[in-house]
Amino acid sequence: MPFKDIFADYDWDIVKERIYSARSIDVERALAKAGYLTPEEFLPLLSPAAEAYLPQMIELSRELTFKRFGKTIHLYIPLYLSNKCNNVCTYCGFSFTNKNLKRITLTPEQIELEAKAIKRYGFDHVVIVTGEDARDINVEYLTAALRVLKKYFSQVSVEVQPLKMEDYAILRNEGMHAVIVYQETYNQKSYAEYHLKGRKRNFFWRLETPERAAQAGVRKIGMGVLLGLEDWRTDAFFLALHLDYMRRHYWQTMYSVSFPRLRPAEGFAGPKVEVNNKALVQLITAFRLFDADLDLVLSTREPAKLRDLLMTVGITTMSAGSRTEPGAYAIHSHALKQFEISDTRSPQQVAQAIKQAGFTPVWKDWEAELV
Ligand code: SF4
Repeated sequence: MPFKDIFADYDWDIVKERIYSARSIDVERALAKAGYLTPEEFLPLLSPAAEAYLPQMIELSRELTFKRFGKTIHLYIPLYLSNKCNNVCTYCGFSFTNKNLKRITLTPEQIELEAKAIKRYGFDHVVIVTGEDARDINVEYLTAALRVLKKYFSQVSVEVQPLKMEDYAILRNEGMHAVIVYQETYNQKSYAEYHLKGRKRNFFWRLETPERAAQAGVRKIGMGVLLGLEDWRTDAFFLALHLDYMRRHYWQTMYSVSFPRLRPAEGFAGPKVEVNNKALVQLITAFRLFDADLDLVLSTREPAKLRDLLMTVGITTMSAGSRTEPGAYAIHSHALKQFEISDTRSPQQVAQAIKQAGFTPVWKDWEAELV
């Protein structure tokens, strides 16, 4: 049974109502089983009732994280290859409607210059990011990019438009490490309101992307929702439902969850729903209690001080030194950015902050090499 059939059994409003009416006893039951919960057991941890238990959630999350991952933070850097996009997404700087700004797609030679610049910082994991323009950004282009990047990095992950299973298989054979694809929101009505034109309007094609990637044998899949589009508690439940399906059906695959909060972007008026810092802590710790094996990822969308705090409550991977325009590291294109980042520290400054917090920054994943 595909995930979309399970998804069809759940009504957004009913789930939301259940989260908002969860009681202390439900939260306590979840805390007692922390480390591997079903979505139903996880649900109370997202509730307003769980806010009173935040200190316990933080403590348990730390304990589970240290036990499973040690005191380490893995580092990566995003590498934007193209800002061309044919979709209209109301919250994104790359949206097709932002017409007067410079659009570029890096050539393999330019990608190599960017790779050399990034490598100097010490990174061994890059995430390539593009807009959705099937003429420029197709499997041939991504294959060429991977061939360049694999000369410099042992882990190259891909955050591009949803692809067919066959295309994922080709990229996996080229050495792609992970596929990252966020559903943005699991609320179908809101999804249609945020995604006005282009292929991204197809909610179910996106929803089934993790399954296609796993069927293609991709080693790791990154999932998430864009925080600020919809009620974060309800979206987090659906994300857990999706993850639970994936971990039961594709148990050979590893999973990560990211917590991207909406950031200012060209042409974007601001988030509809506020997700404050306390909510972010609740979300991160809840997901750690949901699954102790999950890689939890935090990007430079968050300010430096907050990142320094969050890295101690359950986060296991962070980006550093990020730029969100193609060609930013070496060729200085001054092209259109996807969004404004918040933590503007250099990779070395972030690594230093990690050490100061008593953690070890990990630039190279030796375990991946062994696999
Ligand atoms: S969110 Fe993705 S698909 Fe939408 S406009 Fe931005 S780059 Fe394009």
